[in-house]
Amino acid sequence: MSDDTVVSLEGIHKFFGPVHALRGVDLTIARGEVCVVIGPSGSGKSTLMCCINQLETISAGRVYLNGELQGYEERGGRFHVLAERQIDAQRRKTGMVFQQFNLFPHKTALQNVIEGPVQVKRMSRAAAKKLGLELLDRVGLNDLADRYPAQLSGGQQQRVAIARALAMEPEIMLFDEPTSALDPELVGEVLDVIKDLAQNGMTMMLVTHEIGFAREVADHLVFMDQGCVVEEGEPRELLANPRNGRTRAFLSKVL
Ligand code: ADP
Ligand code: MG
Repeated sequence: MSDDTVVSLEGIHKFFGPVHALRGVDLTIARGEVCVVIGPSGSGKSTLMCCINQLETISAGRVYLNGELQGYEERGGRFHVLAERQIDAQRRKTGMVFQQFNLFPHKTALQNVIEGPVQVKRMSRAAAKKLGLELLDRVGLNDLADRYPAQLSGGQQQRVAIARALAMEPEIMLFDEPTSALDPELVGEVLDVIKDLAQNGMTMMLVTHEIGFAREVADHLVFMDQGCVVEEGEPRELLANPRNGRTRAFLSKVL
C-alpha cells in the first residue's frame, strides 16, 4: 500500500441479518483525493461510509486507514477485535458529517465546535476557543459563534457540523448526503465550504446526488448498486461514457 493511500477497503461484506448490504467492495482513496459516491437509494453508500469509521462493524474484509488495520489487530496469525477505547481512537481519525446536522441543541455554535478538542483532546479552553473561532471563520460563520442551533438556518447548522468535524483534525472527512436535508437555496453555501476544503487538499469521501458538483469537484467517482461498486473512474469520463448498463440507467434518471 502506498503512503499516499488514506483509505483502503478490501473485500468488504456487510450483512444486516438476511440483508446483504455490501457484497465485496474494494476501494482505495488517495491522500488529497475527493472521492464522490453515487448510486440509488439502498445501494449501500451510507453503510460503506459507516464501515470506514466503524459506526458499523464489517461482516468480512479489511478496512485500512493510513495503512493501519481498523477494528482488529493481528497477533500470532489470528485477528482479535480491538478494545472499544482503541476503536474510539481510530474513529477519531475520521470526521463525519451527516444529512441531519446532529449538533448539540443546548450548546452554541462555538461550544459545539470545541467540545471534541476540550473533552477528548484535553485542549485548554483558551486554545480550543481560538481554534473554534478560526474554524467558524473558515466556514463563514465567525459572527454567529454564540448562536444556538435553533437560531441558525439549516445551511449554517451544517457548516457548524463541518467545523466541528474539522476541529478533531481528521485524516479524512466523510460526508453522507450533507445537503439532502437543506432547502434548495441553502445547498450552495454548504457545497462551497466542501469545495474550499477540497481545494485546500482535504481527503474526503462524499455521498451526494449533486451530480454537477461531483463533475466539478471530484477526482474519483464511484457508482454503487446493490451493495457493489459497479463502476468507478475519472468523473467527467464516467459521466460522459458510463460503460455499465446500471450506471447508464441511474444517470439517465438524475442528470
Ligand atoms: P444508501 O445509503 O445507498 O441509501 P444504505 O447503506 O443505507 O443505502 O442501505 C443499504 C441496505 O442495507 C439497504 O437494503 C438498507 O435497507 C439496509 N440497511 C441499512 N442499515 C440497516 C440497518 N441498520 N438494519 C437493517 N438493514 C439496514
Ligand atoms: Mg444513505
